[in-house]
Amino acid sequence: MFYLQEYILKKIQAIRGMNDLLPIDSPVWQYVEATVADILQRYGYQEIRFPILESTELFKRSIGEVTDIVEKEMYTFSDRNGDSLTLRPEGTACCVRACEEHGLLYNQTQRLWYTGPMFRHERPQKGRYRQFHQVGVEAFGMDGPDIDAEILLLSARILRELGVAEFVTLQINSLGDTLSRAAYKDALVAYLEIHKGQLDADSQRRLTTNPLRILDSKESTTQALLDNAPMLLDYLDEASREHFAQLKSLLDAGEVKYQINPRLVRGLDYYGKTAFEWVTEKLGSQSTVCAGGRYDNLVEQLGGKSTPAVGFGIGLERLVLLLQEVGAIPEGLEQSADVYVVAVGNVQKEALQLVENLRTELPHLRFINHCGGGNFKSQLKKADKSTADLALILGEDEVAKGVLAVKFLREEQPQQIIPLTEIVDFLQNLM
Ligand code: ATP
Ligand code: MG
Repeated sequence: MFYLQEYILKKIQAIRGMNDLLPIDSPVWQYVEATVADILQRYGYQEIRFPILESTELFKRSIGEVTDIVEKEMYTFSDRNGDSLTLRPEGTACCVRACEEHGLLYNQTQRLWYTGPMFRHERPQKGRYRQFHQVGVEAFGMDGPDIDAEILLLSARILRELGVAEFVTLQINSLGDTLSRAAYKDALVAYLEIHKGQLDADSQRRLTTNPLRILDSKESTTQALLDNAPMLLDYLDEASREHFAQLKSLLDAGEVKYQINPRLVRGLDYYGKTAFEWVTEKLGSQSTVCAGGRYDNLVEQLGGKSTPAVGFGIGLERLVLLLQEVGAIPEGLEQSADVYVVAVGNVQKEALQLVENLRTELPHLRFINHCGGGNFKSQLKKADKSTADLALILGEDEVAKGVLAVKFLREEQPQQIIPLTEIVDFLQNLM
């Protein structure tokens, strides 16, 4: 019996690496999400929503079988029918799947965005979680560098309007087309084979599976070895070289500063030509806040008609952490109420009618109506805690006289008595 009780009472906890967002933190998230959504709208991007569960095959075929994500990070399981499903580790493949399924890519361009949770079984640490959130932006049907520049300007504006521009750097690179990348891969492997003994274990393994990923190894000996390795930018095909040159001049025209990082590669196989990351020094080794690039082959790879595409993902946890780290969170976000209605005695009906009427007449104000009874003092304490600026006080006396008392909670001002018929105008003028 004793054991049974212990067992029942044991609290169930959240899954490791999956966070709750508490009321104290939600205003910051709402602010960030609203700012981003507003900017996307100003650039003519439309929101798309798709499920968080997809066929496992979708991610294997798009992200690539020998990537970290597919090899070891996916939450994959069989459902009750025995179908293999995966909690989406990213949104691009899902977005392409949805667009194809509904004919959105047929003879037309699309500017799309989405937001929501992504799932990867990684080692949880600051800025790295097993459920995290991204805003994704994807543009389809445009093959020129002008659209690459547009989404980079868009990402720059998001970071600027959120007040973190000075703490991030844009790094860009060109990954070339499939053929030039394959030629480069051979040259890189040939060079690294000679020095195989000096490579870290992970990179040795990647030499046969995914050699380009060795370029962003964090190991210093590997990095030193790469100093003399062949350079991807020297292997670019003519079209990619031209695309990259034009992109750079568009970024200059748009006054977006960038660094060329010839070792920047992405962890997903579908990228070609433009690749970029916004990085910061403020978040330790989880330094990439936003990442993306061009993926002209993905739509075809997933069974659609060849369609040029470019996009990026912003990691929202990292973005919020960055805002917190550099003090870019505006003041006043935490205020959740403007007016608190205190109702003492047998006046619940009158209080309810009053506050409902005020909500109709003054939709820009936030009202909390006290519930649960209690004396004047305890209700006022709650009013004070509520973040409201004003308390409206209603008692049996006030109801009988057709008035209410207004108490200023944040300023030294005497309490005022206002006729009920004038309260709408009074609040309208005040707030
Ligand atoms: P990293 O190199 O940090 O592992 P990534 O290349 O795997 O990042 P992408 O797949 O390009 O990242 O995802 C885009 C963005 O999503 C990243 O730049 C980052 O901000 C965020 N992100 C990726 N994985 C995580 C995670 N496990 N936890 C929190 N944010 C993440
Ligand atoms: Mg990763």
